[in-house]
Amino acid sequence: MRTLSIANQKGGCGKTTTAVNLAAALAQTGHKAILIDLDPQGHATLAFGYAPDRLERTIYDSLRDSRISLSDVLQFTNVKGLALAPSNILLSGLETDMAFFQGRESLLSDCLRSLGEAYDVCIIDCSPSLNVLTLNALVASSDVVIPVQTHYYALEGLRQLLETIDVVNERFNPALQIAGVLLTFVEDRTRLSRDVQQQMKDFFGSLVFETVIHRNIRLAEAPSAGQSCMTYDPHSKGAQEYRRLAREIGYEIRTRTAQESIIHI
Ligand code: ADP
Ligand code: MG
Repeated sequence: MRTLSIANQKGGCGKTTTAVNLAAALAQTGHKAILIDLDPQGHATLAFGYAPDRLERTIYDSLRDSRISLSDVLQFTNVKGLALAPSNILLSGLETDMAFFQGRESLLSDCLRSLGEAYDVCIIDCSPSLNVLTLNALVASSDVVIPVQTHYYALEGLRQLLETIDVVNERFNPALQIAGVLLTFVEDRTRLSRDVQQQMKDFFGSLVFETVIHRNIRLAEAPSAGQSCMTYDPHSKGAQEYRRLAREIGYEIRTRTAQESIIHI
């Protein structure tokens, strides 16, 4: 199973929108997918129509108690082939609950291991901070997708994220790779947006995904209907662009997996 964290400690850059729609797009193209809401705000949970404070079990239970398997907390979504591990505000207590627990950075990877080969891909929606939750996400992941909002301060804060990825690489998870930087809220007409796109390409080179996500109102509306944009308005520009991203990521992952299996032979 490939596990992709959608991470950037900056709030409002499109993490949840990317996690929800990428997971839905991957499921719709035949991957057995699981979406993990690893943000105590529960936005990805809300996006699929669940009220976070009314859930009996969430990802928090599974992270805290090794007797509760991840499959026990999963919920259905209205997208065939996509399961959701929901969250709510209780998840914010994990940091203090586990303050003295050795191995607290690998609670999520232990949970995911218990799933075996039941899923092809797992998408993790990270919280807007570099805390123990995001550390758990990175330790459990094969890839990071970094959504970056195209505005003047886009590069700010990214250095800290890249340093964290380096530390995770060195200390916990040498397999972690940056799948790519995803430009979000793009507006072709504005010079600012074009400048920032160029700046990102100069800085990250080929790590910038060819697919960009334009500002699109349908993406912002879909959560209020308790749906991903893939079902809310499949023909919208937002849905099309996330399908394109799923193809780009799917292709890259297949190529890399093929290369790895050649190397292992
Ligand atoms: P994050 O999870 O990084 O905080 P969100 O995905 O929740 O960011 O996005 C922040 C807000 O912007 C949300 O209200 C969301 O619906 C909206 N949004 C996200 N991406 C787009 C987009 N491409 N076009 C228009 N609105 C968007
Ligand atoms: Mg979010």
